Parts: sequence; structure tokens; C-alpha cells
Amino acid sequence: MRKLICGVLSALCISTVFANNKGCYAGIKIDKSVADAVKWYRNSAEQRALYHQVFNTALNYVTLNKDDKKPWGVVLDIDETTLDNSWYYKQCGETTSSENEFSRYVVLPEKSTALPGVKNFTCAIKKMGGYVTMLSNRDGSYAYDGKNVLTSTVNNLKAQGVCFDQVVLADRADAKNPSDKNPRFEAVQNGTCNTKLMVCSNVLPAHKVVAYFGDNIQDFPKLFQAKMISKSKDDEAYSTFANGFFILTNPMYGSWQDNKFM
Ligand SMILES: [Mg+2]
Repeated sequence: MRKLICGVLSALCISTVFANNKGCYAGIKIDKSVADAVKWYRNSAEQRALYHQVFNTALNYVTLNKDDKKPWGVVLDIDETTLDNSWYYKQCGETTSSENEFSRYVVLPEKSTALPGVKNFTCAIKKMGGYVTMLSNRDGSYAYDGKNVLTSTVNNLKAQGVCFDQVVLADRADAKNPSDKNPRFEAVQNGTCNTKLMVCSNVLPAHKVVAYFGDNIQDFPKLFQAKMISKSKDDEAYSTFANGFFILTNPMYGSWQDNKFM
């Protein structure tokens, strides 16, 4: 998810999540390289077109591939797939450097907006009889000042008019590998919620997931950044995209930041 740059100072980062008068994390290090990426994300017609292109393509795909004889649904990532957090990145000049900073300053204010095409897509899925799951690495164990990440996430999605049936988040207080979404993908398909590994708003019946959406390669079952980038550009592993996996562009942050720059 967000790039963790605290490293050995992680304990310090967690304990010093103070706000400055702009509503940003006080220990912020302005990252100038983020500015152009945030501008493209917020103010380019290409970004809007791309989101519509992906959701329109996906709606056609799901219409052709769903099987109404059995329960089915779709799974969407939240940050930079469903909700646009770039308001914070513009305001503060960085994309947050720890999960606690992200939870407190980006999630709890509930100020994020629905991305282009996502309302139409998710509500169309529901009208067609499918389930919509919001599955994110947001930290469902985080609470601050009477607010918590799960409630703020549900509130923000509802206020933005996104149609969904359940929210499944990471549990960073208990899970050993909370950034690995695979146990949550399995829980959605099996109609379960292991509360030691994840935080769920509610549990849906078991169902087949017809399409997955994300802005990070690790938003898709069994795909990992290091493994995928080591493959050739035209490797078969990429053929799942537009065929059940639908990826959106996020030039602001992601697991790609740890790859070698060549
Ligand atoms: Mg995301």
C-alpha cells in the first residue's frame, strides 16, 4: 500500500502522528517528485478516460461471464481504485509514509471522492444481482479520537454513492502479513471472515468472484510485484488483465516504487 519509509524508525513514526495546522502529518517530508503524478491524477482528461475505459470494459466482461445460476460478485480495492485520496496528497505534498499516518489523516476525515465510472459500475453490478465487495489494505484495527477506519470507510463510500455489500479490511494489530490480500480473497469466496486476520463490516454468502479491480498488481489473487516485474513484458501471466482482472493507473505510490529503476 503506502510506501513504508520509516524503516528502523517505525516505532517513532507510529508514536509521532501529530497534525500540523493544514491537517497534514506534522513530521511530513515534502516529496516534490509526487507533484506531477498528483496533477496527472487529479487534473488530466487521460485519468478520467482511463477509469471509464476500465469500468466500461469490465461491465461488458461481467455481463458476458456471470452465471446467474450461482451467487456471484466482484471485488474492488478501495484506495485509488474506488476512492480518490489525492486531495490529501495535493494539500500536504506527500503520499504518507506510514499506515498510521494514512489512517489518521487520509481515512478518518472521510473526504475522499468516488473515482470516475466507479459509481455507475458498482451500482450496475448490484442491479444485475451481483455482490460488490470493497477489499482493502486499510487498517481496520486503527482508531483515533472516537473514530475508526472501518466506520469512516463505510461512511465515506456511502456518502460518495458507491454501491457495495461488504467492506473487508486488513488487521494490522493481529495479522502477521496484513498486506497480503489472499486470505481475504479466499474469505470472500468462502463466505467467511477470520477476525484474527481481517476486519469485516459483515459477511456475505459464499460466491464466485467474476472480476477483481485494483491499482496495484498485488490487488489481484496470487500476483506479487517482485515476481511479476521479473517476467518478460509479454508474459502469459499478464493475459488475465481484461479477462477477470482489471487494473487502474496510480502514478503516485505503490509497490512498484521498490523496483529497480533501469
Ligand atoms: Mg489501492
